[in-house]
Amino acid sequence: MGKFKLVVYSVVCVLIFSSCKKTIVPATLNNVVVKKKLDQFTEVQYGNMPLIISVPHGGLENPSNVPDRSCPNITTVSDSKTIEMALTIDSVCKADYGFQPYIVISHLNRIKLDQNREITEATCGNNNLNTIWNNYHFSIDTCITKITNKYPQALFIDLHGHGHTKQRLELGYLVNANELRNPATILASSTSYYNMLLPNSISTGTQFLTTANAFGTLMANKNFPSVPSAQDAAPAVGDLFFDGGFNTQKYTATLYPNVFGWQIECNFIGVRDNQTNRIKFAKAFLQSLMEFYSRNTIMQPSTFGK
Ligand SMILES: [Zn+2]
Repeated sequence: MGKFKLVVYSVVCVLIFSSCKKTIVPATLNNVVVKKKLDQFTEVQYGNMPLIISVPHGGLENPSNVPDRSCPNITTVSDSKTIEMALTIDSVCKADYGFQPYIVISHLNRIKLDQNREITEATCGNNNLNTIWNNYHFSIDTCITKITNKYPQALFIDLHGHGHTKQRLELGYLVNANELRNPATILASSTSYYNMLLPNSISTGTQFLTTANAFGTLMANKNFPSVPSAQDAAPAVGDLFFDGGFNTQKYTATLYPNVFGWQIECNFIGVRDNQTNRIKFAKAFLQSLMEFYSRNTIMQPSTFGK
């Protein structure tokens, strides 16, 4: 910029100071999404919509100074590419909708610590891991507090990957396969969506998972087969099926009356296997969630991100 132009620009800025200043004012605090690493292995993002995505089993970090878990009857297999899935959901959400979810990620391999178990089984008694376990769960707790300070409810998703033969999403609402096959036996108050039913006057408590507005139905409509859904009401006898774990139980229980949600166990082929499919999944997931909020809850996506 030449000297004359600089003088003119400065004069113009002084004359209309407020409008010149506006161009350098950062986004308002409410719109700032904060990322934190609470320890070497626990990553948190504070978003700006009423959604928390927890990723307990995607971690690949295997520090040699942390012993492998070895207590009886434990599972140590990782959920491949689930961190990548959560990050893809985050970037697609930001690009397509202009707001972002809250996310809690464990980067520590499940062979070292299981962030979807109570602390004794999670650590197999290795007290050195207690702080890391607490950081993960305090983070979810903090996300819930932050969301419910602004919104009436929080939607909690515990994101996993399964290795079962049937390529479909397994949705865990704390309703087992036998109950899904006999929906009259479902006790709505023991499901992970019960806290949603109360303020939203949904009367189809036991049948909700196979209605047109159930999350599984909305995903299956977009070519991501899901069980339960209207299209696939229940696993067949003998099918392997995950119905929801520790995190889903803990964060949708009566201790968290403003939280509802479910576990998603993703199949690999067509969902997690490459970035093209992860983007397709993220778009279907977000579109289904927006439909879910609009049709089933008092929270409207037009109010998110503010
Ligand atoms: Zn898992």
